[in-house]
Amino acid sequence: MDVERYRVPPGSRVELSEWDPEDQQLYNGSKEKGKKALLPLNRRLETLQELLYAENKHRLLVVLQGADTAGKDGTIRHVFEGVNPQGVKVASFKVPTPVELAHDYLWRVHQQMPGRGEIVIFNRSHYEDVLVVRVHNLVAGEVWQRRYEQINAFEAMLADEGTTILKFFLHISKEEQKKRLEERLTDRKKQWKFSRGDLAERQHWDRYTEAYEAMLSKTSTAQAPWYIVPANRKWYRNLVVSQVILAALERLEMRYPEPESGLDAVVIE
Ligand code: ADP
Repeated sequence: MDVERYRVPPGSRVELSEWDPEDQQLYNGSKEKGKKALLPLNRRLETLQELLYAENKHRLLVVLQGADTAGKDGTIRHVFEGVNPQGVKVASFKVPTPVELAHDYLWRVHQQMPGRGEIVIFNRSHYEDVLVVRVHNLVAGEVWQRRYEQINAFEAMLADEGTTILKFFLHISKEEQKKRLEERLTDRKKQWKFSRGDLAERQHWDRYTEAYEAMLSKTSTAQAPWYIVPANRKWYRNLVVSQVILAALERLEMRYPEPESGLDAVVIE
């Protein structure tokens, strides 16, 4: 699976209408087979995460963004299934609290960054500060406009200091969102997820699309690339995200730490 086709090359101009959310060209099996294909990837991630933890050298940050119902929660649940919870953390970013608002917008984000040997998954992120904030004019135009460069500089610093950064935009169509919101309205087990606020955000679909396009065009860098994941099919979305993470971990060429010397002479009584 050459998932690199979903990576946004630095400096390119993204038009989301050119990216098909239904795409599944890297896997032409059925949904059932696609779901099964994730299982060995889960096991591989489990092994690599253990190695990351044992080596205690690298840090991995996974950023998830996407419209409401795009599947941020489902991606976390499926891609990280079976991975040892020790050493993996999810950080969700909601409407900022008064304390968070009293600081700069990267303050709350920086505190959640992975330490050595850790994986942290961002469910929403500092990118909300150029998305919801831009769409709703929560700060002046010149304030959000300069954030793209600030974010690039921030992520470059993190990468220079040893954090691997992978950013995923879960790309669904407006039609697919309608279907998923309708399911939330009618399915007793999904009603808890329904929020009238999501309907209000849906009214701003076109302005969000512009904001996503600007984010993807301006902040996909060699050190912290964006991947545009076709996400109308959940199983395909999971396969793509999982493969990108696995490939990045493989590139780290991790090794178990050298044991203490003289272990072969140790006798356990
Ligand atoms: P979920 O992530 O599951 O949708 P919520 O329904 O609580 O969780 O939504 C979180 C909300 O917080 C989103 O509407 C998001 O846009 C908002 N949010 C996140 N970060 C910021 C921010 N920096 N400024 C304003 N709103 C934000």
